Amino acid sequence: VRPIVTADILAVGSELLTPHRVDTNSLFLTGRLNDLGIAVRMKSAIRDNPRELTAALTNALSNADLIVTTGGLGPTADDLTREAVADLLGLELVERPDVLAVIQERFARRGAAMPAINRRQAMAPEGAIVLPNPNGTAPGLLLEQGDRMVVLLPGPPREMQPMFDGWVVPRLADRTRGRRLHRRVLKVTGRSESQVEEVAEPIYAAAGTAETPVETTILASPGQIELHLSSAGDDGQTIGRVLDEAVARLAEALGDVVFSVDGRSIEEVVGDLLHRRGWRVAVAESCTGGALMARLTDVPGASAWVLGGVVAYANEVKIAELGVPAGLIERHGAVSEETAGAMAEGVRARLHAEIGVSITGIAGPGGGSPEKPVGTVVVAVTTGAGTSVRRFWFPGEREVVRRFSAMAALDMLRRALSTS
Ligand code: ATP
Ligand code: MG
Repeated sequence: VRPIVTADILAVGSELLTPHRVDTNSLFLTGRLNDLGIAVRMKSAIRDNPRELTAALTNALSNADLIVTTGGLGPTADDLTREAVADLLGLELVERPDVLAVIQERFARRGAAMPAINRRQAMAPEGAIVLPNPNGTAPGLLLEQGDRMVVLLPGPPREMQPMFDGWVVPRLADRTRGRRLHRRVLKVTGRSESQVEEVAEPIYAAAGTAETPVETTILASPGQIELHLSSAGDDGQTIGRVLDEAVARLAEALGDVVFSVDGRSIEEVVGDLLHRRGWRVAVAESCTGGALMARLTDVPGASAWVLGGVVAYANEVKIAELGVPAGLIERHGAVSEETAGAMAEGVRARLHAEIGVSITGIAGPGGGSPEKPVGTVVVAVTTGAGTSVRRFWFPGEREVVRRFSAMAALDMLRRALSTS
């Protein structure tokens, strides 16, 4: 038989087509399948309707090596997956006494008789492998039809996930012949998606058509662009080398805006840099309201390099707790290079830290002016050697501006800690 390289996922259940339930099963399955070097060709959410289910299954069967369905294995009349698949493959549904016994036993343990409708869950297409379900009544089903594999799983994630990992992954591993998906992630800050694309495209385009092709996708979030590189195959050593070369070429072309090629977040990178120097950071935040501190302390072990901070939202607090001169705020405004610098220097001095960082800005939607529109943010970083201050303008809503701001401050810390 041929190896399995493509899959379709069918999420069955009318509730998935309402605003109240999200199809998370397909995300879980896509992750697991990708790890096995299997690409998901298509996924769909389908109502509990026999005609639509059959149409979707027909399409999947004619295109993918593997079809995984979730949901619709329950005992009620609207659970149709088992019947639709048997019908389409021309297989008889037969009652499996062993499966029936397990279901009856499950009810007996709770002191109840099995309702007659549950008998349907003991039906399986001839030749199917029954996948036990220790967390529910609906067993899963696995069918191998020539080169193709069809797997039917229950809908509830806590039943579906252990069943997939316990019974389906080992069988799939046999059918993928050592094929695996290998990945690298390169993280960039301080550049827009199109700026990254412009520099990176010639490199990843070439890598995409090389003898061992590397697939690249760009993911953007406020203040951060990620380049995801992946390649599937059975020669892990060659693929690893090819991926590392592509990462090195991209990192070289993009320069010091790349902060991570090993999966670390920027707060982890900053934490490592602080830790290596034996330095501790003090934080003064205005418009981010603690978001920078939250990220710095997200990293396990942060107590070794985070000293503390002040959320100085009101000017009184900037003056009283950080020692920013009142006249300076009056002359230049709370959002200014001067105030940001004084905030960082103030918090560093008062907390006796080696390095201080501050953020002050206008997150919006109100408070903007022609000279300082919403999205104007000033960040300062100070060490014994001096203070650097930068003014930014970030587009977007309040939450987005706040996320950009924390990211910019983390990047200025990274830069200050990387030099000398
Ligand atoms: P059961 O024996 O539990 O009835 P089933 O296979 O019939 O199994 P469904 O009735 O289709 O499962 O789904 C039960 C519940 O599982 C749904 O209400 C929903 O909360 C959850 N569920 C179903 N499909 C998905 C999905 N694709 N993603 C996330 N949750 C899901
Ligand atoms: Mg259902």
